[in-house]
Amino acid sequence: QSYDFLDVREKIHHLPQDMVSLIEVVKKVAKEENTKVFIVGGFVRDLLLNRKNFDLDFVVEGDAIKLAEKVNKRLQGRLVTHKKFQTAVVKLPQQPHIDFVSARREYYEYPAALPKVEKSTIWNDLFRRDFTINCMAIELNGEKEYQLIDYFSGLDDLSDGLIRALYNLSFIEDPTRIFRAIRFASRLGFSIEEETKKFILQAVNDHMINKLSQDRIREEIHGIFKDENLINSLALMKELNIFKSLNQGQDISMKEIQKIENIPNTLEVFNTIKREDIRYADIIVQQLLSGIPMELIPKIINNYVSYRQSYHGIIEGLRKKNRVYSILWSENVDLYEVYALLEFATDEMLIFYYNDCENNDIRHYLLYYKLKLQSINTIITGQDLLTLGITPGPLFKRILKEVLKAKVQGYIYTKEDEMAYAKKLYKNYLEMS
Ligand code: ATP
Repeated sequence: QSYDFLDVREKIHHLPQDMVSLIEVVKKVAKEENTKVFIVGGFVRDLLLNRKNFDLDFVVEGDAIKLAEKVNKRLQGRLVTHKKFQTAVVKLPQQPHIDFVSARREYYEYPAALPKVEKSTIWNDLFRRDFTINCMAIELNGEKEYQLIDYFSGLDDLSDGLIRALYNLSFIEDPTRIFRAIRFASRLGFSIEEETKKFILQAVNDHMINKLSQDRIREEIHGIFKDENLINSLALMKELNIFKSLNQGQDISMKEIQKIENIPNTLEVFNTIKREDIRYADIIVQQLLSGIPMELIPKIINNYVSYRQSYHGIIEGLRKKNRVYSILWSENVDLYEVYALLEFATDEMLIFYYNDCENNDIRHYLLYYKLKLQSINTIITGQDLLTLGITPGPLFKRILKEVLKAKVQGYIYTKEDEMAYAKKLYKNYLEMS
């Protein structure tokens, strides 16, 4: 094969010193062992784009585990090996992640299967990868020391800002690449090349996504949620029919996608809620699914969130949405009604409602509930009612509830107020009975 030569020695030497030394050690050991070693994949892409990347992936034409053992001895790290996959990781404190893998060829026995693997050359190892920009390598030893190996014109696509698959069946063989294409396009501000888009559409329309397990679909979607430029990714997912495929034919409107863009602002409004204390993805999913018919939600929600963690909360939030809006939108809303109405709501649901409803009255009550009402409770307890001579029973509960109600409505404040009010309620009760 012919390919462009590009010397990246300069670029490597401009990396942080730790990293340069690491690469030098691997290069030296490989030379001693007479084994060819390459840096591959995302690291090379990001090096050429001047983006930070602390995942060093080495491909070895030969025995990766043996080489990793030698490197590890030199670096005094901790070695973790997987004989079955011919991979090894060298773990060093506060250092880049270092992976070694034997160059391999992969082939798929059927669509979306796990690939079969056999030892091979760097060419095949690069050919098994997803996009041209991810299948470049840097040769570390041998006659092309520190030269870029670019069999598939990755460098051209990198400068043209294109995500391009290597061959038409790529997305059929591994549908997770559909999500990866979107993720990289959004992260790097690239476009998905037109023919690659067609391949993706074909795979999506042939229901390839549904061949993946829901665990893998979720993992890919959450990868997109966590990556850069989420709105661009969601718009691409829509354009590529992915939502239709995930939602049994139901699309997601651009309006919902645009509302997602506003979630960070909404979160700022609720300034007592910290992002690290909430499940941010739950808010995104609720907003994403808020236009989907309720009866469909339980059937599709596992594509977005796991059953154990978020399933019930998201369904409840969506199911109660209309009721919450209609009560908070009515005239003369009673504060205790707001309190009782929203008691079920998690922070994620409150943020979702605020973000979704686009109505200032509703928003006012949601915020007032979170900042003022939610934390209100009675100071007096059953013990205090006992001192008033009230005997335990249903009356206890009723009086405490009435005291709470008066407090939420803002009629009473202190413990003395509460006691006096409880006393009055008890007196009324005695007079009535
Ligand atoms: P990130 O910054 O997200 O880690 P990355 O390119 O390093 O980006 P990884 O998921 O760590 O992505 O994968 C490392 C490399 O392995 C990729 O650059 C790509 O060459 C290859 N790769 C990963 N997943 C796939 C896949 N599903 N199909 C083909 N190649 C893949």
